[in-house]
Amino acid sequence: MNKIGIIGGGFSGLMVAYHLIINSKSQITIHIIDDNFKNGKGIAYSCNSSELILNVTAGKMSAINSDPDHFLNWASKHADYINTEKKILSNAYLPRNFYGKYLESIWHEINTIAINNKIIIDVLKKNAVDIDKVNNDFKVTFSDGNTETYSSCILSTGNQPPQNPTVFNQEILQSNIYYQNPWDEKIYNKINNKLPILIIGNGLSMVDTVIELKNIGFNNKIFSLSPHGYNILPHRTNDVTYEDIKIEYKILNNISLLNVLKLINFHRKKLRSLGVSAEAVIDAIRPFSQEIWRKFTINEKRIFLNRLRHFWGVARHRLPMQIHDKIQNYRIKNELEIIAGKIIDANVINDEIKVLYTNRITNENSELIIGKIINCTGPEMNYSKCDNKLLLNCIRKGYIQQEDLNLGINIDVTSFQVKGHNNQIVKNLFTLGSSLRGELWESTSVTDIKIQAESVANIILKNNTIHYPLSNQ
Ligand SMILES: Cc1cc2nc3c(=O)[nH]c(=O)nc-3n(C[C@H](O)[C@H](O)[C@H](O)COP(=O)(O)OP(=O)(O)OC[C@H]3O[C@@H](n4cnc5c(N)ncnc54)[C@H](O)[C@@H]3O)c2cc1C
Repeated sequence: MNKIGIIGGGFSGLMVAYHLIINSKSQITIHIIDDNFKNGKGIAYSCNSSELILNVTAGKMSAINSDPDHFLNWASKHADYINTEKKILSNAYLPRNFYGKYLESIWHEINTIAINNKIIIDVLKKNAVDIDKVNNDFKVTFSDGNTETYSSCILSTGNQPPQNPTVFNQEILQSNIYYQNPWDEKIYNKINNKLPILIIGNGLSMVDTVIELKNIGFNNKIFSLSPHGYNILPHRTNDVTYEDIKIEYKILNNISLLNVLKLINFHRKKLRSLGVSAEAVIDAIRPFSQEIWRKFTINEKRIFLNRLRHFWGVARHRLPMQIHDKIQNYRIKNELEIIAGKIIDANVINDEIKVLYTNRITNENSELIIGKIINCTGPEMNYSKCDNKLLLNCIRKGYIQQEDLNLGINIDVTSFQVKGHNNQIVKNLFTLGSSLRGELWESTSVTDIKIQAESVANIILKNNTIHYPLSNQ
């Protein structure tokens, strides 16, 4: 059999399909399985609003590693930007739904190539709920009870919705006042302007949610509550390149947490003394972040997670300046209040939720009466606690195993095949993207995933060639 099942049709699944189709020399069949398939746009790039902006400049958003200007060239031919100078376009933060159109164009392109090369590519708008290994193949069961069998399977299932706050009772969890998934479109269906909205979390999804709420005309107050209430930083530099840290990193004898911190701190101070944002240091070290993470001991990873992950998050996940300004203006006008604190109790009373929280700064308890709560605390990385039946069944059957620090699942990093029971590689069962936070730490951006997608496709084609030599075609 030469049939490949890609479970999840966002950027990760699309780009695996792309490399399979353009490189396959044999007649393969590909199924993209996704009940929410949107022509490869996935969750991040299928938004309606043009005010939701990429957090990376256009020049760095190519979906194809071997063609770094692929997106830029596509964008510069598009009617919206045909008159924009390429250098300016390269440094611009473009709308995420425009990037979605780019991914859609790749989707259409691969469909045409597939027809010409007699490759079958089908979309199954279904939810995969289970996998069984049958000899060397994988039988995938869908929620409607039907099954399909594949010689290779890819788990490109993306981010899982965040964990529910432990203080929330069943009444809250089952109410239509609370939204566990910040990407649930139903959030914006029924908006009650009479009561404020509480967003739990203070990261990029909080920003998205605020902007969407404002777009649809929500005019009551928005609270964002998170343990630290850090300010989100803007991108300050576009064109500053800083090589010194790279040179010193490369001659670092011992890549330990302490040494890396010392290195970053030294260069951060050096740039600061020149009046330059420390962002350039983070950008320069970013290409090595996976290597650094892999060299840390488990203890160093724990220390990083407990004490430093929030600082790294703030330094890394910056906002385009125009979005940052918007958020700051909402704060100045008191339409958005960012609170550092912890929810200690919450109860539904009629159509409202009464939330009691402790303020981290004053240590006092305060109460909020809220019309809607949206959970933006970040994706659940402990897959044994997520709601995705497929992933839960894979864990139960020992096909995948939770990573030691509960940051996704274990893989063989040279082949992207998952490691199951007893750390054994499960041949031809792959994963990529956000499931690899534990193995690679940085594994959610286009920059990371495009390389992984190409590797996964190449390994599948190599394995398939072994089973199906070209001479048999
Ligand atoms: C709001 C947002 C903005 C972002 N902005 C940027 C940016 O500007 N630049 C950047 O580089 N990165 C950005 N990212 C990172 C982003 O994660 C990646 O760029 C990429 O979109 C991830 O794609 P994915 O295919 O891995 O996941 P997703 O897009 O989440 O796709 C996963 C798909 O799997 C499907 N699925 C899951 N389980 C099953 C199942 N059991 N059966 C069938 N289907 C299933 C889901 O329906 C979903 O469609 C952003 C992420 C988010 C969430």
